Amino acid sequence: MPVHPAARRALFRRLQAANPQPRGELEYSSPFELLVAVMLSAHTTDKSVNAATRKLFPLANTPQAILALGVEGVKPYLKSVGLYNVKSQNLIGLCRQLVQHHGGKVPADRAALEALPGVGRKTASIILNIVFGENAIAVDTHIFRLANRTGLAPGKTPLAVERALAATTPEEFKRDAHHWLLLHGRYVCTARAPACPTCLIADLCEYPYKSQADADRERRPRERLPKRRKPGARTGSSRAQRGRAKSRSAAG
Ligand code: SF4
Repeated sequence: MPVHPAARRALFRRLQAANPQPRGELEYSSPFELLVAVMLSAHTTDKSVNAATRKLFPLANTPQAILALGVEGVKPYLKSVGLYNVKSQNLIGLCRQLVQHHGGKVPADRAALEALPGVGRKTASIILNIVFGENAIAVDTHIFRLANRTGLAPGKTPLAVERALAATTPEEFKRDAHHWLLLHGRYVCTARAPACPTCLIADLCEYPYKSQADADRERRPRERLPKRRKPGARTGSSRAQRGRAKSRSAAG
């Protein structure tokens, strides 16, 4: 059930009080560097992206300079990043398009951003939010999980969650909502073990499995429990074992 509007406001107020100026964890010093870092961060950790860009950016941090390195030239720098072969190609394609169509600048327009290789809706939303000050709320795996668990913005797809967040998040919290929700999902409301007993929004959250006992109950059906043997079933465990026993008795 979606969170009541008053509880929603209280929830964002608490996240804001705990972290008044939230920042992401990717390292960058220009809109172009941020675009590259966010593009590289798909399906990998910010830590591995930072490890790569700390080596790449001092050498090349403009579309023209990275384009000059070429696909094979950037690959050695991106090895810490998942899917680095595809991302190397996307990075060069992205730089080429920026040089050819945008004067080497990061465009301020969603359609133009999403037309760049390796840039999807989530990356475009982050750029529009951080670089151009739009109230776009990018939904990644952490925000998707958190929005559904808390009841803030239930939805079956990231786009559905994004639309629900856009429609229901109070205006004054929209600009920073992405970072608050991302950091809370990444470090508190984690996929495997949400820290409900110490969570600062626990009383406002609709997740029904907040206690350890509830969490255990929720997890139990997914665990692979041994099948209960039917009364009178043979005790030999596998076909191979039964075969070996048969051969032994035939030989004896
Ligand atoms: S109470 Fe638990 S489920 Fe709800 S936001 Fe906090 S950690 Fe996540």
